[in-house]
Amino acid sequence: MNGGGDRDRRGPERFQDECGVFGVYQHREAANLTYLGLHGLQHRGQESAGIVSSNGERLFEFRGMGQVAEVFRGKKDLSGLKGRMAIGHVRYSTAGESGLANAQPLRISCHRGEIAVCHNGNLINARELRSSLEKQGSIFQTTSDTEVVLHLIARSKETGFREAVIDSLNRIRGAFSMAFLTPDLLIGVRDPNGFRPLSIGKLRDTWILTSETCALDLIGAKPVRDVEPGELVCLTREGIESFHPFPPANPSSCIFEYIYFSRPDSNLFGKNVSLVRRRLGTELAREHKAEADLVVPVPDSGVYAALGFAAESGIPFEFGLVRNHYIGRTFIEPEQSIRHFGVKLKLNPVRSLIEGKRVVLVDDSIVRGTTSRKIVSMIRAAGAKKIDVRISCPPTIGPCFYGVDTPSRSELIASTQNVEEIRKFIRADSIGYLSMEGMFRAVGTAGNPFCTACYTNEYPIPVREEDQASRREVRSPRSKGRDNRRIVFRSV
Ligand code: AMP
Repeated sequence: MNGGGDRDRRGPERFQDECGVFGVYQHREAANLTYLGLHGLQHRGQESAGIVSSNGERLFEFRGMGQVAEVFRGKKDLSGLKGRMAIGHVRYSTAGESGLANAQPLRISCHRGEIAVCHNGNLINARELRSSLEKQGSIFQTTSDTEVVLHLIARSKETGFREAVIDSLNRIRGAFSMAFLTPDLLIGVRDPNGFRPLSIGKLRDTWILTSETCALDLIGAKPVRDVEPGELVCLTREGIESFHPFPPANPSSCIFEYIYFSRPDSNLFGKNVSLVRRRLGTELAREHKAEADLVVPVPDSGVYAALGFAAESGIPFEFGLVRNHYIGRTFIEPEQSIRHFGVKLKLNPVRSLIEGKRVVLVDDSIVRGTTSRKIVSMIRAAGAKKIDVRISCPPTIGPCFYGVDTPSRSELIASTQNVEEIRKFIRADSIGYLSMEGMFRAVGTAGNPFCTACYTNEYPIPVREEDQASRREVRSPRSKGRDNRRIVFRSV
C-alpha cells in the first residue's frame, strides 16, 4: 500500500510502501495468531500495525502507529478482537501521527456490510481512479492507494462480494498482494504479475495467509503453497476455492525480495532466501575477485552474501561491523542529515579485527550511496589498509513503482554515475557489482521471470509519467489540504 499521508510533512525525498500481510481463517485464537504472525513480518514494516477480526457477525479492529509490540501493549488490546477469523498488517516505516489514517487494515462499512483490507504493493493508477471516484461523489478517508479498492468494491454493480472484488481489481493496475475480510469471508489475492509474495499455510484445520513463510514457522503452521500470480483464493471450511479471474500477465515477481527485503529464513517464489543470498555471494566472488584478509558483511543485509563470498574466495569471514539491533533500519530515517547520523548509531567497526587488514566489504545494494560512503570511512578510520566493496546485485538505476521503498531516479547514485564514479564517491579502493547474469545464476533461473526494473529500467507494467510523479502523492489535487489526522482511528 502506498501511503501518501506523511510525504508533505517529511519532504519529497522518501516514500514508503513495503508491507506485510497476514490472515487467519477459523481458529479460536485468530487475533492472537495474527499478532504473532505480524511479529514474524515486522521487518516488512515498522510504521504501523493493525488487526481486524471477525466473529461471523461483525468486525473488530485495533490499529496504531509503531511496531507490533508498541501497538499491542497488553492482553486487553487483543482480547477485544473477537472471533475465529482475522487479518493483520504491518506497514513500512516512517514517523509521525499523520500516518495513522493510513494504518491498515483499512475497514469500511458500506451497503455490502463491513469490509477490511490489507495490502502489500502499490497501485499505479490509484490517483487517476481516485480522482474519477471523487468526481462521482466518493469521499476518501485516507491518502492510501488501497482505499481506492474499497470504493470500487462499494460501487461495483456485481452483487456477490467475491465478484465485486474481482470487478474492482480488474480496474487496478500495479502490484497487489491483499487479504480481504468480511464478517463471513477471508479472501487472499495476488496480482497477475505476482510482484509481491503471498503464501498459504495450514495449522491443523486453520488456514493462514502470509506475506512470508517465516511467519508460519513462528506459529507452528506448515507451508501449503504460494497464492499464484493472478489467483484469488477464498479460504473455506471445505478447503481453498481458487479462481483465476484476471487476464494473464508475464510472471514478474520482485527479485529485490531475494536481494534485500525478505527474511532469510523465508521460502519465497519456491526458493529459500538465505540460500539464494549465499549464491549471490558465490557468484560475486567469481566475478569480482579480491586480494584481502577478511570478508566483512554489512549487517544484516550483507551477511549471507558475505558468507557465500568467503566460502568461494577462501578469505575468512568476520563480523567486523557490529550492528546495534535496537535502532531501526537506516533507510527509514526521514531526513538526509539524520540518516548520516543513523549509520553511526546502527553500525560500529571492531577495530581489533580490522586494523591493518585488507577488507572485502559486502552489502546487498547501494541506493543513494550515503550509507556505503559512511561505512567505508568508518572502516578506514578503524585502521583498514584496503577496502574492496562488493555488492550482491547490479547497480540500482530505477525506482520501484510496484511496492518497494526507493527514492526517485535522480537520487539513485547509479542512475547518474558510473561504477568508477560511485567508487570515488564512497571512497573505496575497488568496487564490484554482481552482473545480471550472475544474479540469475544465483537465483537459479533460465531467462528472466522476475521484475528487475530497478536494474534495467524495464517496467513490466508501463508507468505513465504522471503516475511516476503521483507515486509520492495519491491524493487528488482537491483534497490536498485535508488534515488526515482527523480520520477515525477505531479501536475496540
Ligand atoms: P544508501 O545509503 O541509500 O545507499 O543505502 C544503502 C543501504 O540501504 C544498503 O545497506 C541496503 O541494505 C539498504 N537498502 C537498500 N534498499 C532498501 C530499501 N528499499 N529499504 C530499506 N533499505 C534498503
